[in-house]
Amino acid sequence: MKKHNFSAGPCILPESVLQKASEAVINFNNDNLSLIEISHRSQSFVNVIEKARSLALELLGLENKGYKALFLQGGASMQFLMTAYNLLNKKAAYLNTGTWSSKAIKEAKLFGDLIEVASSKDKGFNYIPKNYEVPGDIDYFHCTSNNTIYGTQMKSFPETSAPLICDMSSDIFSRQLDFSKFDLIYAGAQKNMGPAGATLVVVKEDVLGKVTRQIPSMLNYQLYIEKESMFNTPPVFSVYVSMLTLEWLKDLGGIEFIEKVNKQKSALLYNEIDRNPLFNGVVNKEDRSHMNATFTLANENLKEKFDTLWKEANINGLHGHRSVGGYRASMYNALPLYSVQALVDVMQELERIA
Ligand SMILES: *Cc1c(COP(=O)(O)O)cnc(C)c1O
Repeated sequence: MKKHNFSAGPCILPESVLQKASEAVINFNNDNLSLIEISHRSQSFVNVIEKARSLALELLGLENKGYKALFLQGGASMQFLMTAYNLLNKKAAYLNTGTWSSKAIKEAKLFGDLIEVASSKDKGFNYIPKNYEVPGDIDYFHCTSNNTIYGTQMKSFPETSAPLICDMSSDIFSRQLDFSKFDLIYAGAQKNMGPAGATLVVVKEDVLGKVTRQIPSMLNYQLYIEKESMFNTPPVFSVYVSMLTLEWLKDLGGIEFIEKVNKQKSALLYNEIDRNPLFNGVVNKEDRSHMNATFTLANENLKEKFDTLWKEANINGLHGHRSVGGYRASMYNALPLYSVQALVDVMQELERIA
């Protein structure tokens, strides 16, 4: 039986997607060739990447609004520097909500002056800073919508006249937002979309072309736009599986539908964390992530018992990030409600026997 997979990333994908992907590796489109042994410039694969790009824009409600969707390589981590390389002339502002924001700040500092408008580092990144000011004279404002490691999520975004850039790696396609407020969104595929290898970048074309520096080809968004996301060989398998996942999501009813399911799942787990005296939530309630729920045991002596119980219950991937410890349940789009119920059952079982 398939495990209940709470892994933070790479993470769970829909069963039907895995099935189709495995078939395509052997025989793609009944062409008697594998998906991963055909030319990326063959019509069969060009159709795949075009479909993936258009589905991404469609699901985000960004069709015909001046945006392009690209599938790049190097992970979200490459975007930390690529965004700055392409958009940072003099000064940019960043909100620091944890490890990923901090890494983005570190890379961007190589290209200009950075203003950290606020940080939640003082409390171990267990909340989202609010009431900060975004300065006016900046090239862009950068934030991380969902903090995968600490389990916090931005519920609102600042109003600013500067271009808004967001790392949505761990909550893209999971909730409805006015995505047209953002000028550049990026997300590594392996959290909510597909296998590692591809990174989705959705960029509004009119924010590009404003820096004076020379940009190397492999780091130049404009070149990828010109080349229809095929400047060089794209990560074909990751793009294909991402396309399948986006199709799956569209068939289910898109972001509007999945957001409801995601809220049900996170409510089920957070209610148990709050009700059960053996567990404590880690982050500020109002900033809790619907994707990654972090919690600890009230009594560390129960660790062995709890770990045994959830492993026996066929649960995978519940350990917290190596930098913070405790537990983290990642409930990405493909995780079924019954998997969350299985975890809640185990938490209640621990309460009974402890
Ligand atoms: C996982 C993650 C990253 C890093 O992604 P890579 O694809 O491994 O570079 C960056 N930002 C966020 C929010 C993440 O969750």
